[in-house]
Amino acid sequence: MTHQESLERLKEGNARYVNDQLNGKLQDSSRRDSLIGGQEPYAIILGCADSRVVPELAFDTGLGELFTVRVAGNVANTSSIASIEYAIAHLGTKLIVVLGHQNCGAVTAAVAGGDNGYNLNHLLGHIAPAMAASKEGASINEVVKKNAELTTIELINRSSIIKNAVDSGKVKVISAYYNLDSGKVDFL
Ligand SMILES: [Zn+2]
Repeated sequence: MTHQESLERLKEGNARYVNDQLNGKLQDSSRRDSLIGGQEPYAIILGCADSRVVPELAFDTGLGELFTVRVAGNVANTSSIASIEYAIAHLGTKLIVVLGHQNCGAVTAAVAGGDNGYNLNHLLGHIAPAMAASKEGASINEVVKKNAELTTIELINRSSIIKNAVDSGKVKVISAYYNLDSGKVDFL
């Protein structure tokens, strides 16, 4: 599957989700059995940990379809990058989607500032470039979109595996925005 075909599948699945027409396929015991020997997910999703944004549901996918990495704020840190590198190098996945979402708590906390303790401060530091690149008075959701966009660049800049795959045309990295109200994913 090319990255364009992968993107089309995600769009089709999201349309079913938005319209309450989930087909829920590839989630049964026969699918489990067929995957014991390996996996060939057609898309990598770097999404937020938010309980309201579940990539497997939002794209109406089953087992073995999405390689999903979730971390608050969908940031590119060492661990999330390494996870994505694994899927690129060993599973042959060709599409990476950085999925931000409406009213993201991590972005809201980053914009609010203050001391949130060592771990959260570290995580929110990854969102600082998006704040710096946003217009003054930008809304949270504007910063969310900027963060998703900059994270696609960060993935390429901080990983030779991802960069080489993108440069050779094998892999594409795109950003997207999930609307909490409609469930629709806008590809940016
Ligand atoms: Zn979030």
